[in-house]
Formats: sequence, C-alpha cells, structure tokens
Amino acid sequence: MRRIRAVPPPRCGSRRAFLLTASSLVAAPVFAQVNVGPPSSMRSLVPAEELEQAATQQYGELLEQARSKNALAPDNNPQLQRLRAIAGRLIVDAPRWNERARQWHWEVNLIGSKQVNAFCMPGGKIAVFTGLLQQLQVTDDELAMVLGHEMAHALREHARERIAKTQGTGALLSLGAQLFGLGQLGNVAADIGTQLLSLKYSRDDETEADLVGLELGARAGFNPEAAVSLWEKMDRAAGAGGGMAFLSTHPSGPDRMRRLKENIPRVEGLYRQALARR
Ligand SMILES: [Zn+2]
Repeated sequence: MRRIRAVPPPRCGSRRAFLLTASSLVAAPVFAQVNVGPPSSMRSLVPAEELEQAATQQYGELLEQARSKNALAPDNNPQLQRLRAIAGRLIVDAPRWNERARQWHWEVNLIGSKQVNAFCMPGGKIAVFTGLLQQLQVTDDELAMVLGHEMAHALREHARERIAKTQGTGALLSLGAQLFGLGQLGNVAADIGTQLLSLKYSRDDETEADLVGLELGARAGFNPEAAVSLWEKMDRAAGAGGGMAFLSTHPSGPDRMRRLKENIPRVEGLYRQALARR
C-alpha cells in the first residue's frame, strides 16, 4: 500500500459548520470545458467524512483479502508502478472538481483477478484488477480514461448521492447521531461501507463520470480519443465473453459513444496545452 498524499482531514465542530463547509467546498465547476452542471444537493444528507472513513475501512479489508490470497501486487510490480504514475498525473487536477480531494489519502492498488474491473471509492481509494490490463491490453491513454472515469465518480461524490437517495433520512439520522456523539447506534460506517462495492450508478452519473474523466485525462496530457477506443475494446472483449464485471455496471452503447465523441473537441485544447508543457 502506498499513500500518494497524506494530509490529515479537518474535523468540523458542529453540524452547522459541516453543512456550511459541505456546501461551500463543492461549488459548480466554472472552469470546466465539459458540461456537467453542479453536483447533486442530495449528497449533503450523508456526511462526506463518515463515508470516506467507511470506504477506507472497506478498501483496507479488500486489500487484506487480496494479500491473504497472494493476489495483491507488490510495490515493485511494473504494472502497478505504471498505474500509479498515470493516476499521479490525473490527481493533480482532481481538486478542481472537489476541494476535499486535497485532503484525500489517495491510494492505487492492483489486484490479481481475471475480472475486467476497476473502481475508485470515496476518498480516493483506487483498485484495478489485472483482468482489465490483460484482456483489454489497454494503452496508457486508455488506462487514464478508465482511471479518470472512476476518479470522477469519487470526485463528484456519486456514492454519497446514491446512498442519500436510497437510505434517505434514515442514513442521515443514524450517521448524524454517530458523528455528533448522540449515542452508539452500531457500526453504521461499516454497514455503509459494505454497500460501496456493489453500488450501481445512474445513467446520469455514468455520463458525468465519462465527461469529467475525459477532461481530467486531457488536462494531464492523455489523448481524449482513447476514451472511444477504450469502449470499443470493452465491447469487443464482452463479445468474446467472460469476466466483464465492469460492463455490468457500465453498460456500453451508442449513447455513451456519441456523447464521448461530441465532447472530445471541448477538451482537445486542454490536451494540446498539456502536451506543450511536457
Ligand atoms: Zn462508472
């Protein structure tokens, strides 16, 4: 496990302070080239810190399981080093999309599994399965688009929004009680944590993650055209059958392709600027 950045998160002293902080930190991204609008206000029903803590706990358990099966890539694994180098470039611009990302303890790990899958949990906990690298034979640009997409789900706090929508006020009450010391109501964080790996995002969340990922990649000097070739590879691999966990949560199709192609010209300038700087 390697921490890319380690800055302790701030604690808010009251619920009011939390709500004020939450609403002011994640403003509409006025700099953005892609058009995604402001984040959902529903997400403020679930405290970000609690969710990030739960994610950290579940991520730790996942890595422990992988380690016990000898399926966790060591720090000197060349593919893991490649992933960390690409993610490191994307992370530079992450705070543009969410100020909280400055405090996240970003982690990137590679897990041995035939599944084609990758995710980024709240708080910047990223895992990629070896099946994605092997079955798709992704280029660095394509890998950046996968990572950018997954990081975008975390930056736009889609898990927070989804849990708020599915748990409603129940989550608010129990998480709030725990957060503000109103009594022990069981291991709420762990319960929320177990949901994080099985979350299915909405179509709108997927579109948003595609576009934010596209822009994150372009700003870091990765070719946005790779978003299209990536999905073509996904489709071909799915046609060949087996192990496409990623596609079960990320249905491909003409709409996704069309939207990506429409948005490539919006980020091309950023890509060229990034290339000129390198
Ligand atoms: Zn997604």
